Amino acid sequence: MSKCPFVTMTTTAGVPVADNQNSQTAGARGPVLMQDYQLMEKMAHFNRERVPERVVHAKGAGAFGKFTVTGDISRYTVAKLFGKVGNQCEVFARFSTVAGEQGSADTARDPRGFALKFYTEEGNWDMVGNNTPVFFVRDPLKFSDFIHSQKRHPATGLRDNTMQWDFWSLSPESLHQVTTLFSDRGIPADYRHMNGYSSHTYSLWNANGERYWVKWHFKTLQGIKTLTDAEAAKIASTDLDFHRRDLHDAIARGEFPQWKVQVQIMPEREADTYAINPFDLTKVWPHKDYPPMDVGVLELNRNPQNYFAEVEQAAFEPGNTPPGMGVSPDKMLQARILSYPDAHRYRIGINYAALSVNKPHCPVHTYHRDGQTRFDGNYDGAVNYQPNSFDGPADNAAYKEPPLRVDGDADRYDHRAGNDDYTQAGNLYRLMNADQQAQLIGNLAGALAPVPRFIQIRQIAHFYRADPDYGSRVAAALGVAMAEVSI
Ligand code: NDP
Repeated sequence: MSKCPFVTMTTTAGVPVADNQNSQTAGARGPVLMQDYQLMEKMAHFNRERVPERVVHAKGAGAFGKFTVTGDISRYTVAKLFGKVGNQCEVFARFSTVAGEQGSADTARDPRGFALKFYTEEGNWDMVGNNTPVFFVRDPLKFSDFIHSQKRHPATGLRDNTMQWDFWSLSPESLHQVTTLFSDRGIPADYRHMNGYSSHTYSLWNANGERYWVKWHFKTLQGIKTLTDAEAAKIASTDLDFHRRDLHDAIARGEFPQWKVQVQIMPEREADTYAINPFDLTKVWPHKDYPPMDVGVLELNRNPQNYFAEVEQAAFEPGNTPPGMGVSPDKMLQARILSYPDAHRYRIGINYAALSVNKPHCPVHTYHRDGQTRFDGNYDGAVNYQPNSFDGPADNAAYKEPPLRVDGDADRYDHRAGNDDYTQAGNLYRLMNADQQAQLIGNLAGALAPVPRFIQIRQIAHFYRADPDYGSRVAAALGVAMAEVSI
C-alpha cells in the first residue's frame, strides 16, 4: 500500500469521523452509549462481511490475464473472438478445490476447478472447467448426493471415507474420475502446473448454420507437476494457502503462467453414430478420433487488487456463450446452466452481473431493473419494457443460433443401462507408467483402508473390471483375496 496525503476518515454517509479509537461511554469506565452510531455501524457491517461460501469450490484463487487466438477456427464459428488469428480478449480465471471449506488446505486430493471468464467484444464467454477431463456422475439428479458423500458426516461433522467409497462403489460411472483423482495428477503441485479441461461438451456454429460439438483443453506450458500424499500433507502442516500464494507470488514476480488452448471438434450429426455418447461427462473423446487442434494461448498476468471483490464475488455461468458458441445436451451442463446463476443470486444478490469482475467489457442493454443492491444508475430514465416506441434495445435475429434437433419420449432413462464405465478407466490405468500405477495403488489403498470390508470388496470389483491387474493390485494392497470379490 502506497503512502498518500492525509485523508479524513468518514462514515458511509461521508460524515467526517473525529475519533475511531474510543467508543462513546458514560464516564471513562462506564457502559457504551446506544447513540454511538459509528460503533453500531462498525459492528453491524462486520457481522455481515461474509457472503455464504460456495457449497462447492469454496477455497480458491484468481487472476486476470489475456487470451490470444493462435489457430484459425473461423470456419466453425461466427464468434468474433475467433474471427482471425491474433485476436485477443481479457480473461479472469479462478482455480479452486471442490470439497474443502474456505480455510481448508490447498494441497488436498481433490479435483481443481478451472473457471474462466473471457471478456469478449460480444459479451462474456464463461467456462466452468476442471483440471480433469471427466466427472464422477453423469446425471445431475445425483450431484447433491455425490457432494454430500464428499463433505462432512451429518453426525460427526467429519470428512468420512466410508461415505465417499459407499457412494462411489454404488456408482460405477465414477470409476474413470476416481482413477484420475487417485492418480499422481490428483494433487497438482500448484495451479500453474496443471491442465484445465472444459470437461463438458459445448458447441460452435458457423455462418452456414452448421453446428459442431467441442471439448476445450488448456495444456499447461509450465509442464505438469504433482505432489505425493506425503508431500501434500507436509505442505498443509505449514501452509494451508500454498496454491493461492504460489499463483499470486509467481504473477507478482512477473512469471506469468500460460496454457496452450486446444479444441476437439465433432460435426453435429456424428454424435448420432459415434461409439461414445459425446454428451456423457464421464467420458473423454480419444485423441485419435478427434485430434485436439491448437487455437490459442491463455496467460495470467495480473493479480486481483481486492480478494473479496474480485475472487469471492466472481460469478461464472456456463450459459454465457457469445454468438457462434453454445451449450450441448450434456445433462450435467444443462443443470449447471441453472445452478450457477442460482448460486450467485443466493450468495451475492440479483445484481451480481454488474460487479466489476463480472461485468462484460462491452455495452450491456437489458430490461432488468431494480433488485437488491442496485449500485449502478439502474438505466436512469431509459424505457424499461419491450416492445416500445422509444428506441429501446431490441432483439436481433442476426444472432440466431441454428435450431437443435431433439427427439425421444420424455421419460427417466436409466443412464447406466448399456453404458461402459470401465474401458476408459482401464485405458487411463494402462497409459500410466510403472511409477504412476504404483502411486495410484498406494493412494487408493490408503483411502480405502478405513472403509468397511464389504465396500472395499465392491469397489475392487470395479477396479478389476477396468483392468484385472488394477483390481488385483488394490486387493493385494488391502489384504483382500480376489476369491472374495464377485466380478
Ligand atoms: P490418447 O493417447 O489419445 O490421450 C492420452 C492423454 O491422456 C494424453 O494426451 C494426456 O492428455 C493424458 N495423460 C497422459 N498421461 C496421463 C496420466 N498419467 N494421467 C492422466 N492423464 C494422462 O488416449 P485417449 O484419448 O484414448 O485417452 C486415454 C485415457 O487418457 C482416457 O481414458 C483418459 O482417462 C485420459 N485422458 C484423455 C484425454 C482426452 O481428451 N482424450 C485428456 C486427458 C486424459 P493431456 O495432454 O491432456 O494431459
